[in-house]
Amino acid sequence: MDTDEAAHRLQLLLKEFTIPARRPGDGRTGTRAHPPVPLNLAVIDHITASVVEVAEHARAAAPDAGPLPAAPAGIYDWWRQSTPDLDEGAVQARETVIYRQGLEHAIAAGDHKVIRKHPCPACGTWGLFWRAAAQRAVCVNQDCTDTKGMARTWELKQLAHEHIAARQRTLKANAT
Ligand SMILES: [Zn+2]
Repeated sequence: MDTDEAAHRLQLLLKEFTIPARRPGDGRTGTRAHPPVPLNLAVIDHITASVVEVAEHARAAAPDAGPLPAAPAGIYDWWRQSTPDLDEGAVQARETVIYRQGLEHAIAAGDHKVIRKHPCPACGTWGLFWRAAAQRAVCVNQDCTDTKGMARTWELKQLAHEHIAARQRTLKANAT
């Protein structure tokens, strides 16, 4: 998943989870195996919180940033366009937030597979899975434990940090 996928996933969430009913004759009604998903307040709260977080970050760096875009999925481009002159560390922090929100949108939509695309930050094993009750990714490697002997777990922001840092390293390596 790339950072630009955050906008795509936010758009999907809006479409699939917050539209109360499809109008007859919109061309897709008859092809759906399930009735339309009812208005999902938790998802609406999630989207609102995501937009607020982006707005706060953007305005902290660029107090003169203009009004938020009308479409929530436009917030990431708006943030980037509002903060064109950040230093390298600040760009990395911004992209980490955007990437983490993309992961959050996927999980809010029930797509936990996005976790598997990340190696465990401690042991490098592929095989993290999502533990919804804890809201953390868990490493399947039995030798990968914390000081108490428990399986290592990771927050989405940690996975996002690792992913963006690795991508920056790759960009740098390719540039030299
Ligand atoms: Zn591990």
